[in-house]
Amino acid sequence: MLHLDLDAFFAAVEQRDKPSLRGKPVVVGGVGGRGVVSTASYEARVYGVRSAMSTREARSRCPHAAFLSGRFHAYRETSRQVMGLLRAASPLVEPLSLDEAFVDLAHAGLPDLSVETVTAFAEDLRARVMEATGGLTASVGIGTSKFIAKVASDLRKPDALVVVAPGTERDLLRPMDVRVIPGVGPATAERMRRVGIHTVEQLEAVSEDEMVRLLGNAHGHWLYSLARAEDDRPVVAEREAKSVSVEGTYDTDLTDRKLMESLLTRQANEVAGRLRKGGLSGRTVTIKVRLHDFTTLSRSSTLPSPTDSAATIARLARTLLADLDTTGGVRLLGVGVSGLADWVQEDLFGEAAEEEVEVLPEVEVPHHSRRTWAPGMDVEHAEHGRGWVWGSGRGVVTVRFETASTPPGPVRSFKDDDPDLTPWRPPEPEDEDGT
Ligand SMILES: [Mg+2]
Repeated sequence: MLHLDLDAFFAAVEQRDKPSLRGKPVVVGGVGGRGVVSTASYEARVYGVRSAMSTREARSRCPHAAFLSGRFHAYRETSRQVMGLLRAASPLVEPLSLDEAFVDLAHAGLPDLSVETVTAFAEDLRARVMEATGGLTASVGIGTSKFIAKVASDLRKPDALVVVAPGTERDLLRPMDVRVIPGVGPATAERMRRVGIHTVEQLEAVSEDEMVRLLGNAHGHWLYSLARAEDDRPVVAEREAKSVSVEGTYDTDLTDRKLMESLLTRQANEVAGRLRKGGLSGRTVTIKVRLHDFTTLSRSSTLPSPTDSAATIARLARTLLADLDTTGGVRLLGVGVSGLADWVQEDLFGEAAEEEVEVLPEVEVPHHSRRTWAPGMDVEHAEHGRGWVWGSGRGVVTVRFETASTPPGPVRSFKDDDPDLTPWRPPEPEDEDGT
């Protein structure tokens, strides 16, 4: 089993595309008052900046960092390249998020699965990831199970390869904190600490009956096995489509309620069309709304019987939107219909699983929407060319003119309604297999 994890992914993409930030502290996340850090570059981590920390605290720890709101189109495109490489290597690839995946090496067509063979394979893979992504590094772990592969990829981050030889798994785990085990969060760890269990070795000494008494049935059996490095979870390449959903991200924060309603209606039409094409219908309608500060909300409503009607889906979606406070501006809207399970698989940013979401082509920039210049966003100036927003306020927007393929560029300021300055988006990638 191989686990690949791109290092400080969002921040690394920003450093790739913004040469003046290479080697400098970069923090990607919500830049507003309630924002949280999604990813900090390793240079920012030195100052104690961490994922999920409030941006306010991050600013106090590392005031000289570049604080950027995310550019999901760039992260998605880079992720697509990496997942493509993995799928070319093995048909069994299970993405966990945009920057992480398991690969089943038993199906990779290798002559054998010796430590030497898989090491050479992984080094070659890391080199190809770096080449395909324009310089991003990946940490890779290889082991006899998902659990061990994931532990291994985390062991010497960043830019590292760790292969755990068969038979050495338990020696590796024993000195580790119990929180290394998936499912052992702060609450479970605290419960164990109270009975004197800190390390995996101490956990290993607990009998299965005791473990079940301590942690409950399901949890107890699971941890008893994992403490012994027993994990036979397979790589699941194709998850059954449990929902149909459509979403769109917007370069300008939407504030006009009528506009949002018409976008939702348009998305509902697309969802209904895809449902009918697939002979599907669903009972639960969900909307997803990402606010200007990166808070992501989803709201659902369940019908008494399944529907594939555009009008019904749109009406429910608009009703759900009516209950949300969107006065601060909205940067993403989505509509989904599901029958069996939750649509949105939330992570820090509330990204839905990639393969289940169809991203809408860019909407015409609405003239009645306030134009915001989010720090980090791509822009183009009629005279100076492409660059990114370095900062804005008091009617002025400051742009650094550079791209991934230029040297660090100069900074210039403009009035924030300068007609020569426009948001820049790459052309939509062609829809290919598997994305
Ligand atoms: Mg990562």
